[in-house]
Amino acid sequence: MLSTGLIAVVASLYLGGLFLLAFIIDRRAKRGAAGFINSPVVYTLSLAVYCTSWTFYGAVGSAARTGLEYLTIYLGPTLVLLAWPFLLRKLVRISNAQRITSIADFISARYGKSSSISVLVTLIALIGVTPYIALQLKAVAASFDALGVTQGWEPAGTSTWGLFSDTGFWVAVCMATFVILFGTRNLGADEHHPGIVAAIAFESFVKLFSLGAIAAFALFGLNDGFEDLFARGAANPDVQRLYNFADGFEPRWIATTFLSAAAILCLPRQFQVAVVENADERHLVTASWLFPLYLLLVSLFVIPIAISGMTSLPAGSNPDLFVLNVPLAAGQDGLALFAFIGGLSAATSMVIVASIALAIMISNHLVAPLLLRLPFFGGSESGNFSTTLLIVRRVSIAAILTLGFSYYRLTETSNALASIGLISFAGVAQFLPALIGGIYWRNATKPGATAGLLAGFVLWAYTLLVPSMAGAGWAFIDVNELGLFSQSLLKPSALFGLADWDPLVHGLFWSMSFNVGLYVVVSLMTNASPLERLQSALFVDAFRTGEEGVEGALQRSATTDDLMRLTIRILGPERAQDIFRDYARRQGLRDPLPQPEPALIAHIERQLAGSIGAASARTMISRVAHGETITMDAVISLLDETQQVIRYSRDLEAKSIELERTAEQLREANEQLTKLDEMKDDFLSQVSHELRTPMTSIRSFSEILVSTPDLSDEQARRFISVIQQESERLTRLLDEILELGRLESSHLEWHPEHADATVIFRAAIEAMRGLTQERGISVRDALGDQPIPVEADPDRLKQVCINLLSNAAKYATGPAPVVEISHTAPAGGGGEIEILVRDNGPGIAPVIRGTLFTKFSRGWSQSTAPDDGSGLGLAISKRIMQLMGGDLRLVDTGPDGTCFAICFSLAPPQPN
Ligand code: ADP
Repeated sequence: MLSTGLIAVVASLYLGGLFLLAFIIDRRAKRGAAGFINSPVVYTLSLAVYCTSWTFYGAVGSAARTGLEYLTIYLGPTLVLLAWPFLLRKLVRISNAQRITSIADFISARYGKSSSISVLVTLIALIGVTPYIALQLKAVAASFDALGVTQGWEPAGTSTWGLFSDTGFWVAVCMATFVILFGTRNLGADEHHPGIVAAIAFESFVKLFSLGAIAAFALFGLNDGFEDLFARGAANPDVQRLYNFADGFEPRWIATTFLSAAAILCLPRQFQVAVVENADERHLVTASWLFPLYLLLVSLFVIPIAISGMTSLPAGSNPDLFVLNVPLAAGQDGLALFAFIGGLSAATSMVIVASIALAIMISNHLVAPLLLRLPFFGGSESGNFSTTLLIVRRVSIAAILTLGFSYYRLTETSNALASIGLISFAGVAQFLPALIGGIYWRNATKPGATAGLLAGFVLWAYTLLVPSMAGAGWAFIDVNELGLFSQSLLKPSALFGLADWDPLVHGLFWSMSFNVGLYVVVSLMTNASPLERLQSALFVDAFRTGEEGVEGALQRSATTDDLMRLTIRILGPERAQDIFRDYARRQGLRDPLPQPEPALIAHIERQLAGSIGAASARTMISRVAHGETITMDAVISLLDETQQVIRYSRDLEAKSIELERTAEQLREANEQLTKLDEMKDDFLSQVSHELRTPMTSIRSFSEILVSTPDLSDEQARRFISVIQQESERLTRLLDEILELGRLESSHLEWHPEHADATVIFRAAIEAMRGLTQERGISVRDALGDQPIPVEADPDRLKQVCINLLSNAAKYATGPAPVVEISHTAPAGGGGEIEILVRDNGPGIAPVIRGTLFTKFSRGWSQSTAPDDGSGLGLAISKRIMQLMGGDLRLVDTGPDGTCFAICFSLAPPQPN
């Protein structure tokens, strides 16, 4: 059996050891030799402050009572660290850049350094966490009593010396001393407490090791390994629950997983160790797997202890004390003492970190702003604020522990503490929307965050805290029974008629719904102030924007003297001088006083924020700085940077597509030019060739005429007539070439008028009558009686028709040549019409069918020439038709004849 004296001595020695450890590490850190403390393993172990006595003792208790639900408490943080390590990294990055001191500071800084938000968050944290501190005190006291009870230890509160014989009291005193000594040695330095972190990490190691030792004892001391343990468990109906995952699943599990995930971010102590105390962002990489591993080990150790407790201890034993009673019942006092030390570690580490975190919040957000309003501190000359603030911190710590202890004494006789862990989690989970939204949602505003936090907090208090207090029998019993104003719809446990829900799920549902709902809706309805926008940009784009962003954005002026005085007052002369000297050096000055510039003011504000929080730092700076304007350009450029980058890259993409298109067009134009150039060359050579033939015969015949004196008259006349024919042909050719040139450059005079196409075509037939009759060709007019209204130049249309008729006359050389002119559809109110000119000639020579309408394309050679065609007629006709908005097409050609179609749109009939 253990004597209480021995337990007290061992506990005191252990705590003394922690003091020593913290002392040595702090000394080394001050000398700048933090060494192994600055390691990812120590950082991870410090995160394990998460496992408090509530999980150390309570997880075994919970496993014994409700089976596997206890796992969810470890599942939440595991999920956050494994699946979302960037989230923590972002929080750390922002906190370092902004010298964040606590979660209240973080949320307030994000929403425009709002002091109302920091007060709200501090109060919620205080109300949510105090009972949790009480829980730790109770756990230590209960475990101490459990170990010492056989020695006739008087239960607390029964004697007049109740207070002093209460273990909880001594634990609270010890903790307060410890925290005051190591948690408030100096201000600022970004709230890093290396000594404390080392002590916490050591405690995390001890509690894991101690739980592991009990588990090993349960497995191999009391049982013969796993098989034996599980065989015994199988015989026990209570243990069955532990194995039955599927049966045990309840909606509550999702709620507890969510809550524990939120807790790892939102509990002030977790935020303190994970974010504020983080010395190196890279530690998160190790923590993201090592911390889940730590939690896995803890949750594995729980099972053998729980099964052993249920199978080997007498029925009715308190499962929350299995960790102690399992070794104790087996007579393993040393092991039980070790278990006690493990539990003590779990409780004290939580109390230490939670009270530091809360003290920072209380002093920075509740007390400092009030003090700074007093003329004594607020004035610019007098008062040493840094010493005052240290005293405030110390008093706050004492006050927090007193509060926690009072709560513990108040609820000592009830079981209200048992559920307080999760209720606490649900309380701080109210920070989650404002926290996560703040770093991912640009448009979240201060009114939105305030509304969400307030609503969430009120509903949390009403649906979770009120029933727990009523259950303990100290307050709100009527409200809990009947609902507020006796309205059953307002019953705390069945709000708005939501009855029969698990109380935790019910409370979480309402508080979170209102919190998130109001946060989003109010944010959407309100506009952020410029400072908020600036902060929002710095938080949301933490990985992109640096400090330069703010320094460029805020324009203020202040004298170096004023700034110096302010800094000395808040941070003390030594640190103030360091800061100013460093800055002057950065400016390239020898003088220890830097030049005043907006960037210096921003720098000083950040330094002050590291000690008194963003909101107070801003208030203080605004007293010495004047003319604060936030250059809208800077804010907008910060805000829009992301969009700008996206827009810029889109512009670039569009430009490059445009460039490609232009290059393509250029290539096409170039090809066309080359083709045109080739065509021009072809044309010139064709023209010269065409001209050359008649010129040659004119020359040779005129030479004969000149050089042959004895030429008969008849011969001379024949030669002259050849010369005449050739020059006529030459003239015609030149005319045609000129006309084609004009047509192609569109320099032709048009006289469009409303006309009847039948009249024009008949005139063409008349004009050709001489030729057709001479050749014995019968021309059939099948145009009908209906007029065909067109908007055209009649002379040109006639020219086209004449060309087709003359071609038919030229090439249709069959025995009974016939040319027929008809049209396709009856002309009626708009649309297209085709005038068909069909002959029964031999058809167009196959070689030229493809190039029929190109210049100089002829189907006859000089030797087979039926006439003196130039190969330009069809090209000219097609061009004319195209210029008139119509076309000339070859419809059909073959040994039975050829058919051309003159196509044009009908004009609306002219009103008479
Ligand atoms: P040309 O002045 O040589 O007649 P065109 O451009 O009018 O020039 O005609 C081009 C060629 O098309 C002619 O050389 C001829 O071979 C062929 N062609 C035109 N119309 C007919 C037709 N009705 N029947 C047979 N071949 C034709």
